[in-house]
Amino acid sequence: MPEKKEKFYITTPIYYTNGMPHIGHTYTTIVADVLRRYKKMRGYDVVMTTGTDEHGVNVERAAKKAGIAESEFVARMADAWKQLWDELELTADEFVRTTDLKHVRTVQWLFKLCKENGYVYKGHYTGLYCIYDNAYVNEPKPGNLCPDCDRPLETVTEENYFFKLSAFQKPLLDFYNKFPEFIQPESRRNEIISFVEGGLKDLSITRTSVRWGIPVPGEEPHVFYVWFDALTAYLSAVGGPEYEKRGMWPADVHLVGKDIIRFHTVYWPAFLMAAMLPVPKQVWAHGWFLMDAAKMSKSKGNVVLPRPIVNMLGMDALRYFLLREVVFGQDGNFSYDALVTRYNSDLANGLGNLASRTAAMLEKNFAGIVPKPETRLSQDDVLAKAAQSAIGEVLERYDRYEFARALETIWGVVAAADKYLTTEQPWALGNSPDEESRKATILWTAAELLRIVSALAYPVLPESTSKIWTLLGQSLGISATPLDGLRWGQLAPGTNLGKFQALFPRVEKTEAVERIEAMANEELNPTQPTASAPASTTSGAAATPGPTAAASDKIGIEDFAKVEMRVGQIKTAERIVGADKLLKLTVDIGTEIRQICAGIAQYYEPESLIGRKVAVVVNLAPRKLRGVESNGMIIAASVGPEGRPVLAGFHEEVEVGARLK
Ligand SMILES: [Zn+2]
Repeated sequence: MPEKKEKFYITTPIYYTNGMPHIGHTYTTIVADVLRRYKKMRGYDVVMTTGTDEHGVNVERAAKKAGIAESEFVARMADAWKQLWDELELTADEFVRTTDLKHVRTVQWLFKLCKENGYVYKGHYTGLYCIYDNAYVNEPKPGNLCPDCDRPLETVTEENYFFKLSAFQKPLLDFYNKFPEFIQPESRRNEIISFVEGGLKDLSITRTSVRWGIPVPGEEPHVFYVWFDALTAYLSAVGGPEYEKRGMWPADVHLVGKDIIRFHTVYWPAFLMAAMLPVPKQVWAHGWFLMDAAKMSKSKGNVVLPRPIVNMLGMDALRYFLLREVVFGQDGNFSYDALVTRYNSDLANGLGNLASRTAAMLEKNFAGIVPKPETRLSQDDVLAKAAQSAIGEVLERYDRYEFARALETIWGVVAAADKYLTTEQPWALGNSPDEESRKATILWTAAELLRIVSALAYPVLPESTSKIWTLLGQSLGISATPLDGLRWGQLAPGTNLGKFQALFPRVEKTEAVERIEAMANEELNPTQPTASAPASTTSGAAATPGPTAAASDKIGIEDFAKVEMRVGQIKTAERIVGADKLLKLTVDIGTEIRQICAGIAQYYEPESLIGRKVAVVVNLAPRKLRGVESNGMIIAASVGPEGRPVLAGFHEEVEVGARLK
């Protein structure tokens, strides 16, 4: 436990902006967020940085294709990345863009230092170049053809600045030797050491053939090239040339994917050594998630997106699965099947069930007040000891980034508590003073165990453990709970319990997987204009006066006749897990019974709708909303600034199936 607040600086990679985040980026960012929350609970002053890498030929091309300026293109991309991280509640303290002025200044400053210290020189770079794509090609197609456009490549020589990487072979090997914890995990360390022992070539760090980049001052048209620009973002995020004022540099850990570890453990410390700046303490490389044992790629159509999973199962489920399923640092397999299986077994039946059982019994037997534990029996002590020793073990495992094992330990305690309740059967005890006293001890023990488990699991499951914390009537926020002060026995009898909120509703596996896949498909192929937009707002039910209605001219009767509307009667109505605004209805339209989703869940109770007659557009093409098929649309007025839906209805008796004209 640090006496004065020690600092801890974590980074994710600065993600390249020519695509959108998938599960791989999300994984790294989640780990950074888990560490950020954990270190704060250990009393550290924490900064977490993420951001976007916005320069280079690929951005130039993508902007051209989109018909907009590069600056506008990257601003839109940066916003989209930020928005996703906000939605997933992955809150970085710093979001650095490589087009930020503070970053531009830092790169130019670092270059100046390296140059003054004699590690930069002007030379020539020769390579195969595509003059149509404006890019060097490292792996040409047979016959020296461009892999992108199939045109013949030319050998081009241009003036570049070079960084004397060759001068750092020995300093780097000495550094790795002196700080063996610098490269993690161990297997990567050996790989990097043998790479450096094989000899280092000087590195080209500027280009004259690229336009969209940070200019080398006084040396236009030179711009900085890839790594000298991107890596420096970690430093510009925490003060750049004035880093000492902020007090966060050097980074305590750079989290990276295993494909970019070489740049982080060879180039980056060499640049910093050349500039005589402090070198990061650690680089931690994680593995890949493979989809059914194959690497994910958009072209294979097996990209896993975070949003559909979060919509269906919640943020905590995704976080838990990614950290529990795979040993951090190794490759792992991703499958929706395994995700939903773990969700049901560990979260719904595990933690969720323990919390709801305990809450219900405390409410029923002790009017929602934490009882006083009376005489303790040996089985109570066994559980107390298990929870107490889990505390130290879990902290140690988090410290070593053994997230899967930390969670395994926590869930071991959850399972022990389940077994304890099943054996002790507090629900079977009667009202005699002895039995009341026994009940009090058992339920206090279960509640105290929930408190310990919640505090320990909070870094990984912030949303659900916060709900348990509120349930247990804890006034100090869970995120601010000092883990170093966590002890068995701190739950005060007499505490008023808060309201129980459902944590992890059980889902049916096949249906859940289908819906996640359908939502992912909607996000990857947003071709149906009706399905993409309403997913996050009110859906088809409210006839929202959208731009089409407002802007259009009058239509002829023949256009109106194309819309077939009939009287329908609602047969069943239910809420949809993961879609707060939608109700799933079955509606009798006279000729058949249809499934229709309606965005009215916030205003209508499902039970109140059964038997109600409504106006239904029956010839609307089927579509999926939040992954649930909707075959038709129910007409509603949109009322007030929030567009509250009010269902259209009939004041006189009408026959089901009657056509509206
Ligand atoms: Zn080409």
